[in-house]
Amino acid sequence: MKIHEYQAKELFRKYRVPTPEGGVGESLEEIAEVVASLGLPVVVKAQIHAGGRGKGGGVRLARTNEEANQAAAAILGMTLVTRQTGPEGRLVRKVLVEKGVAIEKELYLSLIPDRGSATIMFVASQDGGMDIEEVAAATPERIIKVAVNPLTGPQPFHFRQMAFGLQLDPALHKQFAALLKGLYQLFVDCDCSLVEINPLIITADQQIIALDAKIDIDGNALFRHPELQTLHDPFEDDPIEAEAARFHLNYINLDGNVGNMVNGAGLAMATMDIIKQAGAEPANFLDVGGGASAEMVENGFRLILRDPKVKGILINIFGGILRCDVLAQGVVQAAEKVNLSVPVVVRMEGTNVEEGRRILSDSGLKLINAADLADAARKVAEIVA
Ligand code: ADP
Ligand code: MG
Repeated sequence: MKIHEYQAKELFRKYRVPTPEGGVGESLEEIAEVVASLGLPVVVKAQIHAGGRGKGGGVRLARTNEEANQAAAAILGMTLVTRQTGPEGRLVRKVLVEKGVAIEKELYLSLIPDRGSATIMFVASQDGGMDIEEVAAATPERIIKVAVNPLTGPQPFHFRQMAFGLQLDPALHKQFAALLKGLYQLFVDCDCSLVEINPLIITADQQIIALDAKIDIDGNALFRHPELQTLHDPFEDDPIEAEAARFHLNYINLDGNVGNMVNGAGLAMATMDIIKQAGAEPANFLDVGGGASAEMVENGFRLILRDPKVKGILINIFGGILRCDVLAQGVVQAAEKVNLSVPVVVRMEGTNVEEGRRILSDSGLKLINAADLADAARKVAEIVA
């Protein structure tokens, strides 16, 4: 679960990770009050669950009350498009106003779980700021990594490795170590899957401050954090994904035009791969579970068809626990109910497959039978081409 920058910064303050003073507003009046309480200059920042706001016009410096008001009026209610939002952008409903800080240097710092080494990894760079993606691509040696064994936790030597790796002035080492310690504690306490600060800055008066804040909390751990659950912002959810959650279906919206419905997450991943190999792009990931019922299939169809990009659907079912004839009946029932507006290719294999195929072809529905997975992908790719 992602949270907003202003919420992440509240958590930072709890763990003594320094942030600029600031406050949130949802209207021009509220924003003016925050500006008055902070004093000038201020920075006005769009609050959406996506980065790259600075380059998209969602972060503006204001030196006067009038500029602050103009910046707030421009940002509040805008549809902000950044490289992380996709072309449709995000509506800005909240704005964070912060004291403008004199920046001497911008660093990058993040914490992630590293599956390969089963450690919690600090990742950092001297070249922080808005172009960190380019730094990682062009000069990966400028990115340093320090792995912490979660059983023993971070030790002073980890902090020294980080400080030396970033070539920090020794006068800054103590505050930097305290910041890393707080950040690590926050990461563990809140079951984060990502904490990212870009930029982490050194100010003109030699303070290290988190100027940006991004936190992702592991959704599977939310049950033990009722206080963090309240940070969820439903306006940031993908509407189709939110509906899928109500149906208890694992659905993720993607950019392509081939809707697909699969039983089992692994098979769903393989299906997306083979759709791409056939030259098409999946519109979603959808795992209807090992024992997909007619109702599940119906809900799956409804979700897929809500996405206007979808031009064809591929159903890929392996009948193991689930018999193919039962599944075929489910598909027929569901197809009759939801009024299928696009062609559907069905690939089925497993128990009672012959009976399943007969049910599909006798149904009178425009379902296209596929001989195997490659054939299915080819057929659906032709349809959407
Ligand atoms: P994003 O990563 O979404 O573009 P940031 O919070 O990183 O948004 O802000 C973009 C840039 O704006 C920062 O790299 C920094 O240069 C500047 N900035 C952000 N907040 C402040 C602030 N409080 N004072 C001065 N400059 C700021
Ligand atoms: Mg940033």
